Amino acid sequence: MGLLPYKNEPYLDWSDESNQSALRATLEKIGGELGKSYPLVIGGKPVETEGDIPSVNPAKPSQVVGRVGRATEREAGMALDAATRAFESWSRTEPESRARILLRASGIMRRRKLEMISWEVYDGGKPWAEADAQVAEAIDFLEYYAREMLRLKDGVEIYSVPGEESRYFYQPMGVGVIIAPWNFPTAILTGMSSAAIVTGNTIVMKPSEFTSVIGAKVAEIFDEAGLPAGVLNFCPGYGSEIGDYLVKDPRTRFISFTGSMKTGLRINELAAKPNGQPWIKRVIAEMGGKDAMIIDDSADLEAAANDIVRSAYGYSGQKCSAASRAILHADVYDEVLGKVVEKVRTLRLGPPESPDVIVGPLISEPQFEKVSSYVEIGKDEAERLAGEDPGDPDGGYFISPTVFGDVDPKARIAQEEIFGPVLSVIKARDFSDALRIANDSPYGLTGGVYSKDRDHLELARRELRAGNVYFNRHITGALVGVQPFGGFGLSGTDSKAGGPDYLPLHMVAKTVVERF
Ligand code: NAD
Repeated sequence: MGLLPYKNEPYLDWSDESNQSALRATLEKIGGELGKSYPLVIGGKPVETEGDIPSVNPAKPSQVVGRVGRATEREAGMALDAATRAFESWSRTEPESRARILLRASGIMRRRKLEMISWEVYDGGKPWAEADAQVAEAIDFLEYYAREMLRLKDGVEIYSVPGEESRYFYQPMGVGVIIAPWNFPTAILTGMSSAAIVTGNTIVMKPSEFTSVIGAKVAEIFDEAGLPAGVLNFCPGYGSEIGDYLVKDPRTRFISFTGSMKTGLRINELAAKPNGQPWIKRVIAEMGGKDAMIIDDSADLEAAANDIVRSAYGYSGQKCSAASRAILHADVYDEVLGKVVEKVRTLRLGPPESPDVIVGPLISEPQFEKVSSYVEIGKDEAERLAGEDPGDPDGGYFISPTVFGDVDPKARIAQEEIFGPVLSVIKARDFSDALRIANDSPYGLTGGVYSKDRDHLELARRELRAGNVYFNRHITGALVGVQPFGGFGLSGTDSKAGGPDYLPLHMVAKTVVERF
């Protein structure tokens, strides 16, 4: 296929008045579409359910963004059946043809970018720039995985002995269950689904219950792109109601999951138990983080403080990659902490109504309660240097950007994933102490070092235990094809989404040898 080389989708310039007014107009238009109902789609047909999942605007919880079907085990079983049937033909469809559907979906998403951004603002509470980056990431996944499939479609080179031909190529696996989180509802759902589909599998797509309307929009785009019926079965539901069923069912061949450590470990355990299926289920699981940024005594302290703030508070810290620990060398501790606190106090908190809102609401009431309880724990464990007690959640799930200083590396706020706008600042004696503190975590997703010392950078390159390590920059916002993403330890199976090893996780490799 004569495609242009891959390149990342550019972000919109929000200082440009015309982009601002275009998004305002689209937000108003989409505002007129709130409250609609979205059924399940199984085998290409809409399926109504008895119950539904209301999705609300986290900046204004009284506003219902939409109501999405609520699958029970019955509908989940129907979805697995439809996916099983569709696998017969989809797995035999030419890889080029599958890739073209991703490219078409990318085209549709690009044309609808402002609409998708608007749904992100309403359903996910995303500030504009974050919403834009996320839709761009979804487009990137579609473009990148389409090209990756073309690269892998004939297999890879191996050696042959004289008189024989040895071939090594990939085949689709079967029915995949795609279970997504709410924090990147367009990008992660699109990325996990498109990788599974372009490799010839069929899927049951379960978006997060908190952002199911966006899930319905993503499913709609794949449908419009021409995906045959049954290849993608849109099956929203509560994890607690259908999660175990989908994971345990013998029709399931693999599970692609992104979400919390607790859920990921449960899925891994349940999937490992034989349940009559003639295969070992594969689990691709990307989970939480407790990501650290180390600032040493040689660093550019102003740049470091800016990037700590950016990494900790973008999308209210609700990113698996967010900096939730800043580990500062004792000699620069006071100066960096002072700068961070000063910058945090200028962050604008509020509903994402204009481009200058950096910190929006948390996604849901349970998340608001969880983060509020960590603020209380932090007040006992350390000194709060920025942030206020959370207000009434009925007015939106807002928590002000919070900084805790002099945090003990073993404190709960330094060890447990909070997933909110809360930063724990820790003092280190020297660089090796800082590395030791950073590595003292069950997680290992992202990590950063600010330093001008070559020896420190080389040491961290080797020893910092994280799947994504960034030097002298922020640690969030991994770009597809540029910063393949996935964690060590209990952050997941290190699947490196958006990287060259990702698609093979969705296929089985076959070796065929013929003697002549
Ligand atoms: P979550 O684990 O609560 O939910 C994730 C998904 O799992 C949802 O769709 C949910 O319905 C489903 N689920 C819940 N119980 C289930 C069960 N028993 N069986 C099957 N599915 C079940 O996570 P969340 O709150 O939606 O997302 C936030 C978490 O995701 C954070 O821990 C964050 O670090 C992590 N995350 C990781 C990455 C990464 O790439 N490593 C990216 C984004 C988010």
